[in-house]
Amino acid sequence: MRITSVEAHVLVDPDYDVGATSSAQDNLVVEIRTDEGLTGVGETDVNPWIGAACLTAPGTHTMGQCLRDMLIGADPLDTTAIWDRLYTGSAMNGRRGAVVNVIGAIDIALHDLAGQYLGKPCHALLGEQVTDAVTPYASLQPETSDFDSYKESLVRWALEAQRLGFTAAKLEVTFSGPYAHMGLREPWSRATEVIGAVRTAVGPTFGLMVDVQYAFPDADSCLATIADWRQFDLRFVETPVASDDLAALARVATEQPIPIAVGEWLTTRFEFIDLIEQGKIQIAQPDIGRVGGFTEAMRVCRLTQAKGLRVVPHLWKTGLSIAAAVHLAAVTPNCPWIEFLPAQLSESSLRRSLLAREPVLSDGVIRVSHEPGLGVTIDREAMEGFEEAARRLHRW
Ligand SMILES: [Mg+2]
Repeated sequence: MRITSVEAHVLVDPDYDVGATSSAQDNLVVEIRTDEGLTGVGETDVNPWIGAACLTAPGTHTMGQCLRDMLIGADPLDTTAIWDRLYTGSAMNGRRGAVVNVIGAIDIALHDLAGQYLGKPCHALLGEQVTDAVTPYASLQPETSDFDSYKESLVRWALEAQRLGFTAAKLEVTFSGPYAHMGLREPWSRATEVIGAVRTAVGPTFGLMVDVQYAFPDADSCLATIADWRQFDLRFVETPVASDDLAALARVATEQPIPIAVGEWLTTRFEFIDLIEQGKIQIAQPDIGRVGGFTEAMRVCRLTQAKGLRVVPHLWKTGLSIAAAVHLAAVTPNCPWIEFLPAQLSESSLRRSLLAREPVLSDGVIRVSHEPGLGVTIDREAMEGFEEAARRLHRW
């Protein structure tokens, strides 16, 4: 089997809000076709116009080759060899950042293809299955710019997540710092008030996580505030300080008892080695597309196993990423949850309608698929609508 074409789909939710701290409003979907008539699909969490350029920009020398050109004619079953060739061949432009994000979408599509060709689910290509049911937590981020309505919406959404069968939910509590959501500007004591209101509403046994999206300027301000959060029995606090400030992360992770989770933005195992060794975090959060696909995410999983840490994959895209995370978690014994944006509780129409068929929650878990490949179906009409919205915004 040989690869005959590689296509980038730039997608945008036509109702996107540039003030929202949400990357679910756009998407880059990569489709890879072969001479056997099979098509594999992957997605990644990066500005999709930049991603499309990374895929298609022509190369003029050996250290900065065109990703698409390197794929045409290759055997798609050779996933690890292709990953290493793409990484090495694009090194002068890539090694980290957007190029690796796009290699991630390619790698997911290659695994989808390989699974279809071999008649095996993606997880069977990744390793030995350790569970047939994966536990998702619901990520909750209402789109409102008024504090009182945000608090009221989060309480209502957490109760709705509970009603839908989730056993845990993550509260996006981004009221200050560089990525404050939709213009919200509140003192940190008010975050404590929101988490407390949700904890009271959902009861003592429901799992709660909190994501503050890099809000604290330093370790001292973070430690002073989250000392008040011990009463809420949080499963973890995510990205408390800038992910480049590994010294501050190390202090937050070691000077208080709540587990610290980081990793959503990182690319390659090499950045996770620094995060784990210098940042001293307890939970690594590779985003499967962004870190470099299944191939690199599995390398990060093995790294966390060697260090005795947990891994909880980040995702903020569509059911395609959810399917990928389920396959990864199926072979990863130290993965207690995967992230999950419930379609019923997402403001993004892209999240809600890009797929015609995706993993479903049942009795609080997602059953591991045994269908060949990823086991998802794209809604072609919906995808064309999102592509058209992207073309109206910016022609590339
Ligand atoms: Mg986050």
